[in-house]
Amino acid sequence: MKQKTTHDIIVVGGGHAGVEAANIAAKMNCSVLMITMDKKAIGRMSCNPAIGGLAKGQMVREIDMLGGLMGSLADKSGLQFKILNKSKGRAVWSPRAQVDKRQYETLVTSTVLNNKNIDVVLGEAVELLVDNYSVSGVSLRDGSSVFGKTVVLTCGTFLSGLIHVGERKILAGRMGEEGSIGITESLVALGFKTGRLKTGTPPRLNKNSIDWNKTSIALGDDSPVPFPIKRATLTPQTIPAIRYAPTKKRTRLLKKTSVGRPCSRGTLQEQAQDIVHQ
Ligand SMILES: Cc1cc2nc3c(=O)[nH]c(=O)nc-3n(C[C@H](O)[C@H](O)[C@H](O)COP(=O)(O)OP(=O)(O)OC[C@H]3O[C@@H](n4cnc5c(N)ncnc54)[C@H](O)[C@@H]3O)c2cc1C
Repeated sequence: MKQKTTHDIIVVGGGHAGVEAANIAAKMNCSVLMITMDKKAIGRMSCNPAIGGLAKGQMVREIDMLGGLMGSLADKSGLQFKILNKSKGRAVWSPRAQVDKRQYETLVTSTVLNNKNIDVVLGEAVELLVDNYSVSGVSLRDGSSVFGKTVVLTCGTFLSGLIHVGERKILAGRMGEEGSIGITESLVALGFKTGRLKTGTPPRLNKNSIDWNKTSIALGDDSPVPFPIKRATLTPQTIPAIRYAPTKKRTRLLKKTSVGRPCSRGTLQEQAQDIVHQ
């Protein structure tokens, strides 16, 4: 059944970027419609449960100064806080928090759902609607359309997403989540050029397979500094992390066993530009 709604701003995707876009637009008194493929995945973090870090901590602070959510919600769900790069000059110090990723997404989800200026609709945007060279809305996989004055695309890594696990290739967004098919084709049809970026994730280890005697403890800062510059004090919990540095022998073994996988064979590099995370 066709459904017609009109909002000031339509935000496609409820990841980090979508949440901040919706929140700030709502603060400016715009009516916002967020389209998400999974209401439970609003604000969901990728594999690494960290907010901030080198070249990212200052962005979290900038987002905070601009009225965003990430910094204050990271403070509320933080497990360990550390200013990185302390041995170098102050200009390159970077705040990083290890956070409880489930608590973080719960806080983000409730903040979004309780915002009276944000409506959330479950669906997959598959096409941009254009009227006289101007975007007028998007159509959804179920055949309905939503209309708005502005459309913000924050589809993350999901657009035509392809996951490689060894030799297996899976069309998907993140592990366990559907990919998003249609928006890329729609952008191409409108004359945009598209490309493919590549990211990676570390292997998950079974804790029973780890010799804990060979690891060391990595503590956070004694006096954690909050992300929001205006908040004077922070009294979070600080849980130790475990550090493990592989020996040269193990590094050689890993290199040897990864021969033949798409990443090391170069097939991925030919198709995709690398984006490096920490
Ligand atoms: C394997 C992997 C490892 C990563 N590791 C890290 C890391 O360690 N550190 C780091 O900082 N970053 C990492 N990233 C990148 C991470 O995805 C981004 O940092 C971050 O999630 C980007 O936020 P985002 O809001 O742009 O996108 P996302 O968080 O990906 O959110 C996009 C949202 O849009 C929704 N969506 C997409 N298409 C549609 C559609 N058509 N209709 C409706 N909803 C849609 C999705 O369901 C999702 O909820 C990793 C990514 C991957 C895939």
